[in-house]
Amino acid sequence: MTGEARIIDGKATAAALRAEIGREVAAIKAARGLVPGLHVVLVGEDPASKVYVASKEKLAVEVGMNSAAHRLPAETTEVQLLAKLAELNADDSVDGILVQLPLPKHIDTGRIIDAIDPAKDVDGLHPINAGLLAGGKNGLVPCTPLGCMLLLKQALPSLSGLDAVVIGRSELVGRPVAQLLLQADCTVTIAHSRTRDLPGVVRRADIVVAAVGRPRMVKGDWIKPGATVIDVGINRLPDGKLTGDVDFAEAVKVAGAITPVPGGVGPMTIACLLKNTLTAFHARRG
Ligand code: NDP
Repeated sequence: MTGEARIIDGKATAAALRAEIGREVAAIKAARGLVPGLHVVLVGEDPASKVYVASKEKLAVEVGMNSAAHRLPAETTEVQLLAKLAELNADDSVDGILVQLPLPKHIDTGRIIDAIDPAKDVDGLHPINAGLLAGGKNGLVPCTPLGCMLLLKQALPSLSGLDAVVIGRSELVGRPVAQLLLQADCTVTIAHSRTRDLPGVVRRADIVVAAVGRPRMVKGDWIKPGATVIDVGINRLPDGKLTGDVDFAEAVKVAGAITPVPGGVGPMTIACLLKNTLTAFHARRG
């Protein structure tokens, strides 16, 4: 293939998804007088987490949802945080609960995630939701992987039978993306830091999902001509600019379609959080 890849516009896709969610929220309110509610819990003062929580709150309000951020001090104990989650689990007006990660070191993240009602776990990280996904039966699916799939389904007429390589095997991104690709009938390879001949593995792929956290690691000559490339990586360079895990300048000359960083997967994550809140609302309240 010659020429430049088509750019998959995550920003526009996310805006369209939020608009659709906004219309649905308005319809629910008009018909039933109910408003889906998203509650985000933040412990401590991590600057990046504060920014993420503020934008989740803002975008939830923009689509007409009830949104609340529970900002707890850094010295909050595990017991206090568990009590807050018990309160939110018991509150029928709360449809989605998200605990912003990372938590301070004195709190056991696994224990906290286990304590979220799986029906309200809009981050899709509870073992029940992860187990459902592994069994091919979707509960609530992690937001970034869901965003990757929406972009792929938009970029490709069919995913069935395609070779997909996911680089990264984290609980948050790599593993759930791989499960979703398998559900979409791709032939899936999960690569990681111990994979031998990563360039050779990636060269087989019709679909590449890079979720590593290493700036520009995936080179243009690793990409099969015409492949669809989804770059999940968000890496800050010394000059302050953001870059993905894929060498975009090289890959754009070889791929058929590619997501940019920023403006690709990133904006889809919060839009999918809102989508999950609506899914949780429907599952719980009919
Ligand atoms: P993790 O650090 O949890 O996982 C990284 C994965 O990459 C691991 O499985 C690791 O392998 C693998 N890896 C590391 N080095 C190599 C290598 N040299 N070759 C092959 N594989 C390697 O990261 P996350 O999954 O949480 O995030 C990945 C990236 O996605 C980050 O840049 C993060 O900022 C970004 N991100 C973006 C989001 C968005 O909204 N766009 C949301 C979440 C994350 P091993 O398991 O063997 O150690």
